[in-house]
Amino acid sequence: MKFIGAHVSAAGGVENAPIRAHEIGATAFAFFTKNQRQWLAKPLTEHSIKAFKQNCETYGYRPHQILPHDSYLINLGHPDTDKRQKSLNAFIDELQRCEQLGLTLLNFHPGSHLREISETRCLDLIATSLNFALEQTTNVTAVIENTAGQGSNLGYCHEQLAYLIDRVEDKSRIGVCIDTCHAYAAGYDLKNDYSGVMANFEAVVGFQYLKGMHLNDSKTILGQRRDRHHSLGQGEIGWGVFKQLMEDPRIDNIPMILETIDSNIWADEIQQLKNFIPPYTS
Ligand SMILES: [Zn+2]
Ligand SMILES: [Zn+2]
Repeated sequence: MKFIGAHVSAAGGVENAPIRAHEIGATAFAFFTKNQRQWLAKPLTEHSIKAFKQNCETYGYRPHQILPHDSYLINLGHPDTDKRQKSLNAFIDELQRCEQLGLTLLNFHPGSHLREISETRCLDLIATSLNFALEQTTNVTAVIENTAGQGSNLGYCHEQLAYLIDRVEDKSRIGVCIDTCHAYAAGYDLKNDYSGVMANFEAVVGFQYLKGMHLNDSKTILGQRRDRHHSLGQGEIGWGVFKQLMEDPRIDNIPMILETIDSNIWADEIQQLKNFIPPYTS
Protein backbone atom coordinates (compact mmCIF):
# COMPACT_ATOMS: atom_id res chain seq x y z
CA MET A 1 0.00 0.00 0.00
CA LYS A 2 1.03 3.57 -0.65
CA PHE A 3 -0.06 6.03 2.01
CA ILE A 4 0.00 9.57 0.64
CA GLY A 5 -0.86 12.82 2.39
CA ALA A 6 0.35 16.22 3.51
CA HIS A 7 1.47 18.08 6.62
CA VAL A 8 -1.89 19.49 7.65
CA SER A 9 -2.76 22.19 10.16
CA ALA A 10 -3.75 21.28 13.69
CA ALA A 11 -5.19 24.74 14.35
CA GLY A 12 -8.08 24.58 16.78
CA GLY A 13 -6.87 21.26 18.20
CA VAL A 14 -5.03 18.13 17.08
CA GLU A 15 -8.39 16.46 16.48
CA ASN A 16 -8.81 18.67 13.39
CA ALA A 17 -5.75 17.22 11.62
CA PRO A 18 -7.39 13.93 10.48
CA ILE A 19 -10.45 15.87 9.28
CA ARG A 20 -8.27 18.18 7.17
CA ALA A 21 -6.35 15.20 5.80
CA HIS A 22 -9.59 13.50 4.80
CA GLU A 23 -10.78 16.66 3.04
CA ILE A 24 -7.84 16.53 0.60
CA GLY A 25 -8.17 12.82 -0.14
CA ALA A 26 -5.09 11.88 1.90
CA THR A 27 -4.35 8.35 3.09
CA ALA A 28 -1.58 9.62 5.39
CA PHE A 29 -0.88 12.86 7.21
CA ALA A 30 1.65 14.78 9.28
CA PHE A 31 0.99 17.49 11.87
CA PHE A 32 2.46 19.23 14.91
CA THR A 33 1.12 18.07 18.27
CA LYS A 34 1.97 21.52 19.67
CA ASN A 35 3.01 24.94 18.36
CA GLN A 36 6.28 24.19 16.56
CA ARG A 37 7.83 27.58 17.31
CA GLN A 38 7.28 27.64 21.07
CA TRP A 39 9.00 25.70 23.85
CA LEU A 40 6.05 25.34 26.14
CA ALA A 41 2.69 23.89 25.30
CA LYS A 42 -0.39 23.08 27.29
CA PRO A 43 -0.89 19.36 27.80
CA LEU A 44 -3.31 17.74 25.39
CA THR A 45 -6.78 17.65 26.90
CA GLU A 46 -8.71 14.43 27.40
CA HIS A 47 -11.29 15.80 24.99
CA SER A 48 -8.69 16.44 22.26
CA ILE A 49 -7.11 13.02 22.68
CA LYS A 50 -10.44 11.24 22.48
CA ALA A 51 -11.64 13.28 19.51
CA PHE A 52 -8.32 12.74 17.68
CA LYS A 53 -8.56 8.97 18.07
CA GLN A 54 -12.21 9.00 17.06
CA ASN A 55 -11.56 11.08 13.93
CA CYS A 56 -8.63 8.85 12.93
CA GLU A 57 -10.88 5.84 13.21
CA THR A 58 -13.72 7.51 11.31
CA TYR A 59 -11.47 8.42 8.38
CA GLY A 60 -9.34 5.29 8.41
CA TYR A 61 -5.98 6.58 9.63
CA ARG A 62 -3.99 4.03 11.57
CA PRO A 63 -0.80 4.92 13.50
CA HIS A 64 1.58 3.79 10.73
CA GLN A 65 -0.10 6.28 8.34
CA ILE A 66 0.55 9.24 10.64
CA LEU A 67 3.89 11.03 10.96
CA PRO A 68 3.85 13.76 13.62
CA HIS A 69 6.70 16.29 13.36
CA ASP A 70 8.50 17.74 16.38
CA SER A 71 9.22 21.39 17.18
CA TYR A 72 11.74 23.29 15.05
CA LEU A 73 13.41 24.57 18.23
CA ILE A 74 14.71 21.20 19.38
CA ASN A 75 18.45 20.51 18.89
CA LEU A 76 19.40 17.18 20.47
CA GLY A 77 23.05 17.82 19.59
CA HIS A 78 23.29 21.35 21.00
CA PRO A 79 26.89 22.05 22.07
CA ASP A 80 25.68 23.79 25.26
CA THR A 81 24.69 21.32 28.00
CA ASP A 82 21.82 23.40 29.42
CA LYS A 83 20.35 24.14 26.01
CA ARG A 84 20.71 20.49 24.99
CA GLN A 85 18.89 19.47 28.17
CA LYS A 86 16.09 21.91 27.37
CA SER A 87 15.79 20.30 23.92
CA LEU A 88 15.85 16.82 25.40
CA ASN A 89 13.04 17.67 27.81
CA ALA A 90 10.97 19.11 24.98
CA PHE A 91 11.67 16.03 22.84
CA ILE A 92 10.54 13.68 25.62
CA ASP A 93 7.38 15.77 25.93
CA GLU A 94 6.81 15.36 22.18
CA LEU A 95 7.24 11.58 22.45
CA GLN A 96 4.78 11.50 25.35
CA ARG A 97 2.21 13.52 23.39
CA CYS A 98 2.48 10.95 20.59
CA GLU A 99 2.00 8.16 23.15
CA GLN A 100 -1.12 9.88 24.48
CA LEU A 101 -2.53 10.07 20.97
CA GLY A 102 -1.82 6.39 20.38
CA LEU A 103 0.79 7.21 17.71
CA THR A 104 3.94 5.25 16.97
CA LEU A 105 6.19 7.61 14.98
CA LEU A 106 7.83 10.98 15.69
CA ASN A 107 9.71 12.75 12.92
CA PHE A 108 12.55 15.07 14.00
CA HIS A 109 15.52 16.97 12.57
CA PRO A 110 18.75 15.46 13.94
CA GLY A 111 20.49 18.61 15.19
CA SER A 112 23.13 21.26 14.53
CA HIS A 113 26.70 21.69 15.76
CA LEU A 114 26.45 25.50 15.41
CA ARG A 115 30.14 25.49 14.35
CA GLU A 116 31.12 25.05 18.01
CA ILE A 117 31.89 21.32 18.00
CA SER A 118 32.82 18.73 15.39
CA GLU A 119 30.25 16.86 13.35
CA THR A 120 31.17 13.59 15.03
CA ARG A 121 30.91 15.06 18.53
CA CYS A 122 27.49 16.48 17.65
CA LEU A 123 26.28 13.14 16.24
CA ASP A 124 27.44 11.41 19.45
CA LEU A 125 25.48 13.93 21.54
CA ILE A 126 22.37 13.34 19.41
CA ALA A 127 22.69 9.57 19.86
CA THR A 128 23.08 9.95 23.64
CA SER A 129 20.01 12.22 23.75
CA LEU A 130 18.02 9.72 21.69
CA ASN A 131 18.93 6.79 23.93
CA PHE A 132 17.89 8.75 27.00
CA ALA A 133 14.59 9.91 25.47
CA LEU A 134 13.68 6.43 24.21
CA GLU A 135 14.33 4.98 27.67
CA GLN A 136 11.87 7.44 29.21
CA THR A 137 9.08 6.45 26.84
CA THR A 138 7.53 3.42 25.20
CA ASN A 139 6.17 2.48 21.77
CA VAL A 140 7.10 5.58 19.79
CA THR A 141 9.82 5.25 17.13
CA ALA A 142 12.09 8.28 16.66
CA VAL A 143 12.28 9.01 12.93
CA ILE A 144 15.38 10.98 11.88
CA GLU A 145 14.81 13.28 8.91
CA ASN A 146 17.59 13.80 6.39
CA THR A 147 18.48 17.45 5.91
CA ALA A 148 19.64 19.60 3.02
CA GLY A 149 22.82 20.30 5.00
CA GLN A 150 22.02 23.99 5.26
CA GLY A 151 23.98 25.88 7.91
CA SER A 152 25.43 23.45 10.42
CA ASN A 153 22.56 20.95 10.26
CA LEU A 154 23.61 17.32 10.36
CA GLY A 155 21.87 14.36 8.75
CA TYR A 156 22.63 15.42 5.16
CA CYS A 157 24.17 12.11 4.10
CA HIS A 158 23.19 8.47 4.46
CA GLU A 159 26.38 7.79 6.45
CA GLN A 160 25.31 10.24 9.19
CA LEU A 161 21.86 8.63 9.41
CA ALA A 162 23.51 5.20 9.69
CA TYR A 163 25.97 6.53 12.30
CA LEU A 164 23.06 7.57 14.52
CA ILE A 165 21.14 4.31 14.01
CA ASP A 166 24.31 2.36 14.92
CA ARG A 167 24.52 4.18 18.25
CA VAL A 168 20.88 3.87 19.24
CA GLU A 169 20.49 0.90 21.56
CA ASP A 170 16.88 -0.03 20.77
CA LYS A 171 16.95 -0.57 17.00
CA SER A 172 13.22 -1.30 16.99
CA ARG A 173 12.50 2.33 17.88
CA ILE A 174 14.74 4.21 15.46
CA GLY A 175 14.04 4.99 11.81
CA VAL A 176 14.55 7.57 9.11
CA CYS A 177 12.40 9.84 6.96
CA ILE A 178 13.82 10.80 3.58
CA ASP A 179 12.79 14.22 2.28
CA THR A 180 13.26 14.31 -1.51
CA CYS A 181 13.98 18.06 -1.59
CA HIS A 182 16.56 17.77 1.18
CA ALA A 183 18.22 14.73 -0.45
CA TYR A 184 18.46 16.51 -3.81
CA ALA A 185 19.77 19.72 -2.23
CA ALA A 186 22.32 17.65 -0.30
CA GLY A 187 23.64 16.24 -3.58
CA TYR A 188 21.71 12.99 -4.12
CA ASP A 189 20.74 13.07 -7.80
CA LEU A 190 17.35 11.38 -7.62
CA LYS A 191 16.47 12.89 -11.00
CA ASN A 192 19.25 11.35 -13.09
CA ASP A 193 20.22 8.42 -10.90
CA TYR A 194 17.19 7.25 -8.92
CA SER A 195 18.35 3.65 -8.76
CA GLY A 196 21.89 4.60 -7.74
CA VAL A 197 20.68 6.83 -4.90
CA MET A 198 18.31 4.13 -3.67
CA ALA A 199 20.99 1.44 -3.91
CA ASN A 200 23.27 3.63 -1.81
CA PHE A 201 20.47 4.14 0.74
CA GLU A 202 19.92 0.37 0.92
CA ALA A 203 23.65 -0.32 1.33
CA VAL A 204 24.35 2.37 3.92
CA VAL A 205 21.09 2.68 5.88
CA GLY A 206 18.71 -0.09 4.77
CA PHE A 207 15.06 0.12 3.72
CA GLN A 208 13.98 -1.59 6.95
CA TYR A 209 14.69 1.74 8.68
CA LEU A 210 12.66 3.84 6.23
CA LYS A 211 9.59 4.85 8.27
CA GLY A 212 8.39 7.82 6.26
CA MET A 213 9.06 10.17 3.36
CA HIS A 214 8.56 13.86 2.67
CA LEU A 215 7.63 14.41 -0.96
CA ASN A 216 8.82 17.84 -2.02
CA ASP A 217 10.17 19.26 -5.24
CA SER A 218 13.16 21.59 -4.89
CA LYS A 219 13.61 25.22 -5.90
CA THR A 220 17.35 24.77 -5.50
CA ILE A 221 19.64 22.91 -7.87
CA LEU A 222 21.44 19.67 -7.01
CA GLY A 223 23.91 19.89 -4.15
CA GLN A 224 23.27 23.53 -3.18
CA ARG A 225 22.55 22.60 0.42
CA ARG A 226 19.60 24.98 0.67
CA ASP A 227 16.16 23.95 1.90
CA ARG A 228 13.63 25.42 -0.53
CA HIS A 229 10.56 23.30 -1.19
CA HIS A 230 8.52 23.58 -4.37
CA SER A 231 5.25 22.08 -5.63
CA LEU A 232 5.67 18.68 -7.30
CA GLY A 233 6.75 18.97 -10.92
CA GLN A 234 7.49 22.68 -10.64
CA GLY A 235 11.01 22.46 -9.26
CA GLU A 236 14.38 20.98 -10.19
CA ILE A 237 13.38 17.38 -9.38
CA GLY A 238 10.30 16.99 -11.60
CA TRP A 239 7.41 14.50 -11.72
CA GLY A 240 9.54 11.60 -12.94
CA VAL A 241 11.08 10.95 -9.53
CA PHE A 242 7.69 11.01 -7.79
CA LYS A 243 6.33 8.53 -10.36
CA GLN A 244 9.29 6.24 -9.66
CA LEU A 245 8.62 6.47 -5.92
CA MET A 246 4.99 5.45 -6.45
CA GLU A 247 6.15 2.46 -8.51
CA ASP A 248 8.86 1.39 -6.03
CA PRO A 249 7.72 -1.63 -3.97
CA ARG A 250 10.54 -1.07 -1.45
CA ILE A 251 8.69 2.06 -0.34
CA ASP A 252 5.34 0.64 0.78
CA ASN A 253 3.25 1.02 3.92
CA ILE A 254 4.87 4.22 5.18
CA PRO A 255 3.44 7.75 5.34
CA MET A 256 4.55 9.81 2.31
CA ILE A 257 3.95 13.44 3.17
CA LEU A 258 3.75 16.57 1.02
CA GLU A 259 5.31 19.71 2.51
CA THR A 260 4.95 21.54 -0.78
CA ILE A 261 4.44 25.28 -0.84
CA ASP A 262 0.88 25.60 -2.19
CA SER A 263 -1.61 23.86 0.07
CA ASN A 264 -4.41 24.80 -2.35
CA ILE A 265 -3.17 22.14 -4.78
CA TRP A 266 -2.41 19.38 -2.25
CA ALA A 267 -5.56 17.48 -3.24
CA ASP A 268 -4.44 17.56 -6.90
CA GLU A 269 -0.88 16.54 -6.03
CA ILE A 270 -2.17 13.62 -3.96
CA GLN A 271 -4.49 12.54 -6.79
CA GLN A 272 -1.66 12.73 -9.32
CA LEU A 273 0.57 10.60 -7.08
CA LYS A 274 -2.24 8.07 -6.63
CA ASN A 275 -2.59 7.91 -10.43
CA PHE A 276 1.04 6.76 -10.65
CA ILE A 277 0.51 3.74 -8.39
CA PRO A 278 0.61 0.66 -10.61
CA PRO A 279 -2.78 -1.12 -10.84
CA TYR A 280 -1.39 -4.48 -9.73
CA THR A 281 -0.49 -3.18 -6.27
CA SER A 282 -3.15 -2.51 -3.69
ZN1 LIG B 1 10.67 17.45 5.45
ZN1 LIG C 1 12.62 21.22 4.20
